[in-house]
Amino acid sequence: MASSPTLAMNELVARRRAEGRETLHLGFGEAMFPLHPVLRTALAEALERTSYAPVAGVPELREAIARYITRTRGVECSAQQVVVGPGSKPLIYALLQALDGDVLVPRPSWVSYAPQARLAGRRAIAVATDPADHQRLTPAALADAAARARTAGGNPRMLVVNSPSNPTGGMFAREDVAAITSWARTAGITIISDEIYAELAHGWRPHVSPASLYPEGSIITGGLSKGFSAGGWRLGYAVLPGGERGEQLGRAVRALASEIWSAASTPIEEAAIAAFTPDPEVEIYLRRAASLHGHVTHALYRTLHELAIACPKPAGGFYLYPDFAAWRAPLARLGVTTSPQLAQYLLDKWDLATLPGTAFGEEPETLRLRLATSMLYGPAPQSNLWQLLQQTDDLPLPGTSDEPLPLSLPALAQAQQRWTEIIADWNKRK
Ligand code: PLP
Repeated sequence: MASSPTLAMNELVARRRAEGRETLHLGFGEAMFPLHPVLRTALAEALERTSYAPVAGVPELREAIARYITRTRGVECSAQQVVVGPGSKPLIYALLQALDGDVLVPRPSWVSYAPQARLAGRRAIAVATDPADHQRLTPAALADAAARARTAGGNPRMLVVNSPSNPTGGMFAREDVAAITSWARTAGITIISDEIYAELAHGWRPHVSPASLYPEGSIITGGLSKGFSAGGWRLGYAVLPGGERGEQLGRAVRALASEIWSAASTPIEEAAIAAFTPDPEVEIYLRRAASLHGHVTHALYRTLHELAIACPKPAGGFYLYPDFAAWRAPLARLGVTTSPQLAQYLLDKWDLATLPGTAFGEEPETLRLRLATSMLYGPAPQSNLWQLLQQTDDLPLPGTSDEPLPLSLPALAQAQQRWTEIIADWNKRK
């Protein structure tokens, strides 16, 4: 197996910068806002908790997460249904290993689902989505992928979904969630709902969890990495269904965890209790973080739109997924016919780091790239980031106004300028 493309790109950019090569980094999605002081204080107070935590997590944290999920997703659940781990990524892997059958994976979707499914000895079955229909996941496409997999000897029993989405920035509408969960219930499919970006919904579309409509067959995963800007803390959770089935799954996931990572870090777990306990200050922080990511992502989206680049309108998180098919001919003259070649060309010729669509399961000839906007704040001192977060209080909801963004963000301006130059160059070659 190769290294995860996102981490590989991040290391490549770090090497280029160390060699003194300026690089605009749209290749890695890492939330980088300053840590909330409530979490800093909680961690400082927990530093001497040096014993191993229970495999499923510190009881108070599991309780706080259960209440948080009930509060934010409208899903009734108890602490017994919560498993805490070192990030949601290993928990998703443990679920893919512990559940039965093969996995339906929408195309495009996050880089790690298909490799994790294969590592767990499962087939990753691609489910087509239509760019002309905002990459919506439909029961018809799900049924078609499942039928084809069964004909080929597969046994589709799981579906991974991710709203807000990495890479598209899209979110399920309520009717999409209703249609998908209704299909999954009838087809006997368990849904793993990766909700790591749920806190970063931009606000013009509400976040609806599949678990709110299909609690007996849905698992929610989430954590501190995106909304709380604390990826390096490595703190994630999975909320399993209730009842005997959920308990059985919980035993299997805990058994795997006990043999692989034992437990997440105890001080981090203790500190994370503050993140999931109701606190108006933390809620304001989350709202501002979602707003700032949203405004910056929409500002770059508007630039792409003005340049006539097809791209789904972002609804949450900090990603854009533009399609460059309209420039296929001039790109071919530059020797670029695949998305990995396009990403390489942009890096070599324009010092612009992106990720190719192939990293998200697309065919190489599909000329799509994923752009992450989360690194467009640096090199900003922390005080500046606090100020930017605060300034979002005076702004309308992201994506609801065409006024220029009244914030000083030099890296964003540079990215907008760079895309304008690139498209002007390609248009000349048309
Ligand atoms: N799921 C998606 C869609 C992600 O983009 C990421 C991080 O990039 C993760 C899961 C991993 O999150 P964690 O830091 O909780 O392991």
